Amino acid sequence: MKVIVVGCTHAGTAAVVNIKEEYPESEIVVYEKNDNISFLSCGIALSISKVVTEPEKLFYNSPKGLEDLGIKTNMKHEVLDIDFINKKVKVKNLIDNEILEDTYDKLILTLGSWPIVPKFEGGELENIVLCKNYDHAKTIINKSKDAKNVVVIGAGYIGVELAEAFKIQGKNTILIDAEDRIMSKYLDSEFTDIAEQIFTEKGVRLELGQKVEKFEGKDGKVSKVITDKNEFESDLVVLCIGFKPNTQLLKDKIDMLPNGAIMIDEYMRTSAKDVLAAGDCCVVKYNPANDTRYIPLATNAVRMGTLIAKNLIEPKLKYLGTQGTSGIKIYDLSIASTGLTEEMANTTTKFNVGSVMVKDNYRPEFMPTFEEAILKLVFDKDNHKILGGQIISKIDLTQFMNTLSVVIQNEMTLEELAVTDFFFQPHFNKPWSLLNIAALEAIK
Ligand SMILES: Cc1cc2nc3c(=O)[nH]c(=O)nc-3n(C[C@H](O)[C@H](O)[C@H](O)COP(=O)(O)OP(=O)(O)OC[C@H]3O[C@@H](n4cnc5c(N)ncnc54)[C@H](O)[C@@H]3O)c2cc1C
Repeated sequence: MKVIVVGCTHAGTAAVVNIKEEYPESEIVVYEKNDNISFLSCGIALSISKVVTEPEKLFYNSPKGLEDLGIKTNMKHEVLDIDFINKKVKVKNLIDNEILEDTYDKLILTLGSWPIVPKFEGGELENIVLCKNYDHAKTIINKSKDAKNVVVIGAGYIGVELAEAFKIQGKNTILIDAEDRIMSKYLDSEFTDIAEQIFTEKGVRLELGQKVEKFEGKDGKVSKVITDKNEFESDLVVLCIGFKPNTQLLKDKIDMLPNGAIMIDEYMRTSAKDVLAAGDCCVVKYNPANDTRYIPLATNAVRMGTLIAKNLIEPKLKYLGTQGTSGIKIYDLSIASTGLTEEMANTTTKFNVGSVMVKDNYRPEFMPTFEEAILKLVFDKDNHKILGGQIISKIDLTQFMNTLSVVIQNEMTLEELAVTDFFFQPHFNKPWSLLNIAALEAIK
C-alpha cells in the first residue's frame, strides 16, 4: 500500500507516525513545502518573551526522525495539483523547480491553514509580518529586537499572547481589534473585563472597536497604522486576524465549506475515494451546538491525524467531535474555556440560553493561602444540557474545563453535573467542587 501525505506539521506528523506503526509494510511518501516539520506555533509568544530560550526548541520531530522510521520525507516539495480519478499528484521541487508526478493507493490531505491577510493599502510595507510558522517566528524575534512601537492586529488568543510577550520585552505595545472586547470568541465579558484590566495595568494599550484601514511607511518600512478611529506610530506590525484552510488546490474537486474547509465524515474520509483529511484544512463536528464549524486547533489536528491511521483501510475508530476547549495564561491569570460562551450561544444557536456564575476561594480559608476562582456555566434552559463554561483564577484551575468538555461531549445535564463525584482534599479544593456548586446554583 502506497500512502502519499500532503503537508506535514501536526496532523501530517500524527498521521504518518501512526500509519507506520499500524502498517509497518506500507510505503509512505511525504510532500511538505516547508523545510521543517512539527513546529509548535503555540511557543512563538513564549520565545519572544524568552520563557522559551530559542524557537528551535519548539519541534518534537524532524525530517530525519521520519526518515529513520522508513518514511520518505520530501521537504521543499509543493503539491500543485491532484487527479483524484487517476490517483496522481503533481509536485514541484521548490529547490530546482523540477515538476514530478507520483501515484497513490491512499492520499492524506493535511494541508493546514494560513493567516487571513485582508487587502490593506500599504500592506506590502516591510515589517508587517504574519505569525504562523518557524520562519515567521524567526522574523518576529529578529525584527522585534530593534522595534520600539509594536502593533498587534487581532485580539484573539494569539494576538493577546503576543501583546503580553512584546510588553514583557519592554516594547510600546498596542493591541487593536474590530470587536469591543479581547478574546470575544472564547470568553464572555465577565472574563475579558478582568483580562483587559490586567493588560491596561501592565501598560498594553488596548485599542478596541476599531478597524484597521491602511498602513503608512517611511523608506519602505511601516511607520503608522491607521484605523477608522485613530492612528498609531509603529515599526513592527503583526497580523493575527484569523486563519483560513489552505485548500485552494482542491477547489471544485472535493466537497468543502464555502470557506474552503474540507468536509470529512467521522472516520476522516473526504468525498474523494481513498482520500482522508485531518487538521486545520477540515471542518470539525462541534458538539455543543450540534453543527459543524471551522475550529483550527492543534488538539484537533493531532487527534484527527491519529484517527487517519486507525481508519486508513476500514472505519474502526470514530471521531467524537470537539468542544473547542482552550486555555491561556495572561500574566498571572490562568483562563480556560470550553464549548459555547453565553454570547456565542445567543448569537449562533437557537438554544434557550441560561448561565450561572460562581465565585469562591478554590480551597479552604484555613489553608495558609487561597485564591479566588470565577467559574461560569452556560446551559440550555429547556433541557438543562450543559453548553459551555469558563474559568479564571490566579491558581491554575484550567483542568476544570477539560472535565467540563467531557460533560458536554456526553450531553450531561445540570442535574447530573450537580451530583457528580469529585474528590476533596484541602490542598486542592473544597468539599463541593466548583462544578457541582455552579450546577446546583443553576437548578435552584
Ligand atoms: C501562534 C499560534 C499559536 C497557537 N497556539 C495554539 C495552542 O496553544 N493550542 C492549540 O491547540 N492550537 C494552537 N494553534 C493552532 C495550531 O497551531 C494549528 O491548529 C495546527 O498547526 C494545525 O496543524 P495542521 O497540521 O492541521 O496544519 P498546519 O500547521 O497549518 O500545517 C500544514 C502543513 O501543510 C503544508 N502544506 C500546505 N499546502 C501544501 C502543499 N500544497 N504541498 C505541500 N505542503 C503543503 C504546510 O507547509 C504546513 O507545514 C496556534 C497557532 C498559531 C499560529
